[in-house]
Amino acid sequence: FRADGISPVSQTANRVSSGLHRVSRNARIASLEKTKREFLNVASHELRGPMTVIKGYLTMLEAGSLGDLSPQTQSIVHLLIAKSDEVNWMVEQMVEAARLEDGRMTLKKLPADLVALTDLAIEGVRQLLGKHHPSVEKPSKAVEAEVDPDRFQIVVRNLLSNAAKYSPHGAHIKIRVSGNGVGKVAVTDEGIGITEEDQARLFSRFVRIETKATQSVSGTGLGLWLSREIARMHDGDLTVESTPGRGSTFTLRVPLSR
Ligand code: ADP
Repeated sequence: FRADGISPVSQTANRVSSGLHRVSRNARIASLEKTKREFLNVASHELRGPMTVIKGYLTMLEAGSLGDLSPQTQSIVHLLIAKSDEVNWMVEQMVEAARLEDGRMTLKKLPADLVALTDLAIEGVRQLLGKHHPSVEKPSKAVEAEVDPDRFQIVVRNLLSNAAKYSPHGAHIKIRVSGNGVGKVAVTDEGIGITEEDQARLFSRFVRIETKATQSVSGTGLGLWLSREIARMHDGDLTVESTPGRGSTFTLRVPLSR
């Protein structure tokens, strides 16, 4: 090459080399994503079986079917049941997240009453809400919408369990169901709140906001991502309004039946 021919050649070589670098980095990221997805899938399914056995025996112990328990043992068993409910809930979120990631989540939509489904969801997390004061505001008649009842309850349970996890014991949790133009379930807590910057990222997969107040709280960082995806699969949405130090309101909206 003549001296003036070398520069374009070396520029092209640099472009090719950085392009190859990018391709190999993208391939590495894709392979890590795949491994993470596979891990989520296997771990969640492997945990499910043993957790069912543990919860089953604990429930029998609590009911006295395996003999009388001292008051102290009774209260320990009660605590263990609450903890196994927490683990079961995380496993359920992982199973659903793995389904969503693999494109295996299909909704089974049925005509349903959002008031009744919200009541069922509250019952499902009664233990988790034990140290809080939940109150429900709901219309006297049904709010009818076409939803997947199990998935709808997963979203509401997630909002309720977050409200309990991220607010102090004894605090109020307000649940409002309404059907004015759109089916709505709003969950308001008096907890730690979320900054505007964090509100923009908490619906992403595996995102947990790390602060002093949250470091001792267990979770997967999957719940809100999964919940917003489920809401959007219903042509609805999940949104947040929050003031740090004051509390948060998460609102699930789905279209009403026509
Ligand atoms: P996690 O399993 O960590 O609770 P989520 O996806 O449900 O995962 O929530 C993501 C993050 O958003 C949480 O780790 C927490 O930092 C924040 N968050 C969720 N709900 C609330 C809430 N009601 N109040 C304050 N922070 C919340």
